[in-house]
Amino acid sequence: MLVAESRRPGPVVWLTACIHGDEVGGTAIVHDVFGLLRKEGLSRGSVRAFPLINSMGFENVSRYINTDREDLNRCFPGDPRGSLGEQIARRLYDAIMKSEPSLVIDLHNDWVQSIPYILLDPPQAYPNARTERRTLELARATGLLLVEDSDVFHPLRNTLAGAIVDAGVPAFTIEAGGAYAVVEEGVAAGRDAVLSTLRSMEMIDWFLPAGHPGTGKALRYTNRPLCSTSGLIRFDVQPGQEIRKGQILAQVFSAFGSREESLLATADGFVLGLEDHARVLPGREVIAVAEQS
Ligand SMILES: [Zn+2]
Repeated sequence: MLVAESRRPGPVVWLTACIHGDEVGGTAIVHDVFGLLRKEGLSRGSVRAFPLINSMGFENVSRYINTDREDLNRCFPGDPRGSLGEQIARRLYDAIMKSEPSLVIDLHNDWVQSIPYILLDPPQAYPNARTERRTLELARATGLLLVEDSDVFHPLRNTLAGAIVDAGVPAFTIEAGGAYAVVEEGVAAGRDAVLSTLRSMEMIDWFLPAGHPGTGKALRYTNRPLCSTSGLIRFDVQPGQEIRKGQILAQVFSAFGSREESLLATADGFVLGLEDHARVLPGREVIAVAEQS
């Protein structure tokens, strides 16, 4: 655990990184944020971090904590007598909750071709209006695109951020660009998002956010349209691109080059990320989109 503590009391902010062992950019974000806090100081409160939670996954270049493919970020709030994942989750959860946190930011990485964005719990997940309002306020302060998970295929149940929100504490996830390697662009975006939030909480005074905090509603996350054929996928759009309903997002080709399928946007919105692999199968998630409702 890393701790930066001011002499003046104030909010307690947590950064958690590499809970998925192949999502390594968050660890570099923690390094950079703490490097700056040591150099420039903290006006009040404390910043705490678990910089590399899933050390087993990290060493094996895997999302999971063990060969049983247990996903630690689906084990919260955990159970002291549960599975290995649930036991680790419980210890993390207890350590965080004992500190009476004001905010928990869980740092993740997405597909190699993806833009940084904030992933929020859907409105119905908040235990009360105050937690929802404060979470949105702090998420807006990051300056990144806000996306709420509403896709039935991707319930955020049992995630770290979801369990913290359940307890009435603001929490959200930063998806800071591509996984597997440290992508410096994503690290810089994640670092600035964290610093902008600390600034909005009056914990630092030496960082000027580049953008203005947004005021709009969060967009809705979706992996639709799913692929319904198999073959080689080629994308017609790029991460970050604005799209219109009905627009061609990608096309799937057979080995001989005949077009098997065109995937069309189901709503207006933005492209968040594109599948890492060219080979696709029926039912595959191949694109992430932030939909305007
Ligand atoms: Zn992740």
